[in-house]
Amino acid sequence: MKTIKPHSAIALFSGGLDSIIVVKMMQGLGYEIFPVFFSTPYLPPHKALEYAKLNGINLLVRDISEAHLQMIKSPRYGFGKNHNPCIDCHALMFQLAGDMLQELGASFIISGEVVGQRPMSQRRDALNSVSKTSGVGDLIVRPLSQKLLADTLPIREGWINKDEMLDLQGRGRNAQMELATKLGITDYPSPGGGCLLTDAGYSLRLRELIQHGQDNPHTIGLLRWGRHFRLSPQIKLIVGRSEADNNGLSQAATDETRLSIKDMRGPLGILSGGNPDEPILRIAASIVLSYSRKAPATAAVRYQPKDGMEQILMVSKIPLENLNQYKINIE
Ligand code: SF4
Repeated sequence: MKTIKPHSAIALFSGGLDSIIVVKMMQGLGYEIFPVFFSTPYLPPHKALEYAKLNGINLLVRDISEAHLQMIKSPRYGFGKNHNPCIDCHALMFQLAGDMLQELGASFIISGEVVGQRPMSQRRDALNSVSKTSGVGDLIVRPLSQKLLADTLPIREGWINKDEMLDLQGRGRNAQMELATKLGITDYPSPGGGCLLTDAGYSLRLRELIQHGQDNPHTIGLLRWGRHFRLSPQIKLIVGRSEADNNGLSQAATDETRLSIKDMRGPLGILSGGNPDEPILRIAASIVLSYSRKAPATAAVRYQPKDGMEQILMVSKIPLENLNQYKINIE
């Protein structure tokens, strides 16, 4: 029977292959591991939960939206190609994992970071910045690359045998594929694509929301779907592009006013930012109508405020090129 090592660790778990490997590898070496996924409006937990389940990993999910939104206003190390503050984001996650050590009875923190794998956050100097900013740098072990990194407390104290750690580096995936096979990991997602902050259109919509002082976990949650329009400094319209958008918006927009074409399937419109005056309401209804190919040039649009009387507005389509003045999206 395998001996359980006396010191356990919290694992930053993203749901990607590297984080699955690190959890399985450390469990295989006899460490008790507490994998944690830190959730934000731009990084929801469903994918991580799915791949944790497929791999028999018991995952703890913690919502860190407020702390992350605070950090994203002025990240010390700035942004990557889009609105992704990856160095500060990793540092915050390590810091919050550090806050959980006592609660879980764990001694150190591990992650699947690999030296030189990501251009912004996994260069060697970036890993050092992450460690330093987190305030818990001496408790961090990166098992996939630890042989290439400075020893931290768990190694100096002999909680971990450095010889059992690895020396992976660079962007190649072959070593990880071999490890996955060796560890019996068959279910893992393709690399990238998890965090919406790396998406150009999403980043633009988020920056616009922050500029208007309307950023909070709820409004940011609505940025994932549809085309976005700014109708006034307060009022925004979101129009679903597909059935998936309409369903996502319908579920998430719990506080907003809805617009839909009467007696016809078509895009769902969501108005946020308060009660619009009549001219803005008519523009919003016209925009919703304009995105229905099947609807006639003039039609009835249903206006359903959250608290208030439903109204029917007769409006006409606006040529799509005239909508650019309101659009926030990159198409
Ligand atoms: S991609 Fe997103 S979740 Fe990942 S480190 Fe960067 S900001 Fe954080």
